[in-house]
Amino acid sequence: MSTFQAPKGTYDLIPPDSARFLAVREAIAAPLRTSGYGYIETPGFENVELFARGVGESTDIVTKEMFTLTTKGGSELALRPEGTASVLRSALEHNLHKQGNLPVKLWYSGSYYRYERPQKGRYRHFSQVGAEAIGAQDPALDAELVILADQAYRSLGLRRFRILLNSLGDKECRPVYRAALQDFLRGLDLDEETLRRAEINPLRVLDDKRQDVQKQLTGAPLLRDYLCDGCKAYHEEVRELLTAAGVAFEDDPRLVRGLDYYTRTTFEFVHDGLGSQSAVGGGGRYDGLSEMIGGPALPSVGWALGVDRTVLALEAEGVELELPAATSVFAVPLGEEARRVLFATVSELRRGGVAADFAYGGKGLKAAMKAANRSGARYTLVAGERDLAEGVVQLKDMESGEQSPIALDAVVAELRGRLG
Ligand code: ATP
Ligand code: MG
Repeated sequence: MSTFQAPKGTYDLIPPDSARFLAVREAIAAPLRTSGYGYIETPGFENVELFARGVGESTDIVTKEMFTLTTKGGSELALRPEGTASVLRSALEHNLHKQGNLPVKLWYSGSYYRYERPQKGRYRHFSQVGAEAIGAQDPALDAELVILADQAYRSLGLRRFRILLNSLGDKECRPVYRAALQDFLRGLDLDEETLRRAEINPLRVLDDKRQDVQKQLTGAPLLRDYLCDGCKAYHEEVRELLTAAGVAFEDDPRLVRGLDYYTRTTFEFVHDGLGSQSAVGGGGRYDGLSEMIGGPALPSVGWALGVDRTVLALEAEGVELELPAATSVFAVPLGEEARRVLFATVSELRRGGVAADFAYGGKGLKAAMKAANRSGARYTLVAGERDLAEGVVQLKDMESGEQSPIALDAVVAELRGRLG
């Protein structure tokens, strides 16, 4: 072991588990790629102010969880804690919204950083795949995003997840609700910090995980009783579109995102096998965010799904992903001449789309066969001087154990045929 270890709250992704991680990322992205979303990649860090405004000064992410740094030049930066603010910043910077084609639909995938108390499913470095649809207010767009996330989870074989859905209202009806909620909260027996939160960001109090707080919230006013006609109709349309698409969801009138620029549709994907880190993904509409970061009014909607927790959810359900074989054919040369010949064969197999590997390091037969076994290859090619003199290699089926000589010039075609 080296003197160093991965920093607290982080972990290394190493084979073979890393293959599962990649497959999850790919499976989440797949439905987006075929639904008009273009890939966007933004820097791993941004001006700290972007997140302060774009995530919200009163959120845990900004007050407690940001990794910030000052550059030698004096710029205040932060490692990105989430994707939406960066993606919107980039879309505005490059005028993607002015190209006459709204909504601008983008997807992304990458590392995110939050200074959290590490525990299972909660890390300081984690991975998300996200999607944002910028510049349109259309219930079908909100529904599309929920449907695509559902499709992604189902394609992975996940079953025990639930979709929670709510509407947060808009700038017409939410302030009325906010005031009513505040009135209610002021009458409760809450600690000082929570009371302060009730003044700045009362909706967030609904999200408090503590039981003694939750108990007092039983009779709290609910947003759905305050929605204006526009918000009600919009939400009803989203619900109908999801139902028509066969996507099951649960109405959760307590589901919130505490910031003013989050509007109307909000949703979360939870998995029941994950204990307290049950959210595998979340998202919603953020009609006011663009203006918060200096842009024009651009109603938008998006989500981010956590790759780490999705992998844990698959484990919790005992789902084994069908991963493509890392190595289908493993070549074992015995001697110098065979080394050159089989090396060329392996290169040719690879060019022909067959996953192939080679016993490097001048191993003897025994060690090389052990390596072949460990590689998981379906077939092994073995050749020594005598085989080459006869123009053949030995082809061993690692499942049946059968071995037979194959003409050297036919081996690639033979293997491609057998592997389909
Ligand atoms: P939580 O309530 O669990 O803290 P969150 O509301 O902070 O989640 P979002 O900001 O909505 O999470 O991020 C979307 C998804 O990213 C989450 O549903 C989760 O799967 C994942 N995620 C968020 N924070 C972490 C973390 N620290 N470690 C691993 N995954 C995370
Ligand atoms: Mg969090």
